[in-house]
Amino acid sequence: MTHPYTEGLAAGVVRYQCCAACDAWQPLTRLACRACGSTDLHWRDASGRATVFAVTEVSRAPTEAFRALAPYTLVLATLDEGPRVMGHAAPGARIGDRVRASFMAFGDSTLLRFD
Ligand SMILES: [Zn+2]
Repeated sequence: MTHPYTEGLAAGVVRYQCCAACDAWQPLTRLACRACGSTDLHWRDASGRATVFAVTEVSRAPTEAFRALAPYTLVLATLDEGPRVMGHAAPGARIGDRVRASFMAFGDSTLLRFD
């Protein structure tokens, strides 16, 4: 089963979950709204514009597949819509940088990248 977030990346869009009742965005995937408790949550396409919140240099890749990429830079970026998502970034990315989502094919999947 694929996930709406993963499907979005493959389609070239960052998606986040939103409450249909009160419009609050949701951190990660939830079953009920963090603000009002409604279970009427749906997925929305983000603009892809974001601000870098945290930066990590990864020198030891977690999986065999990612070893080919290492060392690489990961950022936690705050989408203009509010949610924070993890993505790859160019070396030298800094906290506070304004970035835009792009998508890179990696094996059978698509990775989110911020430039
Ligand atoms: Zn709500």
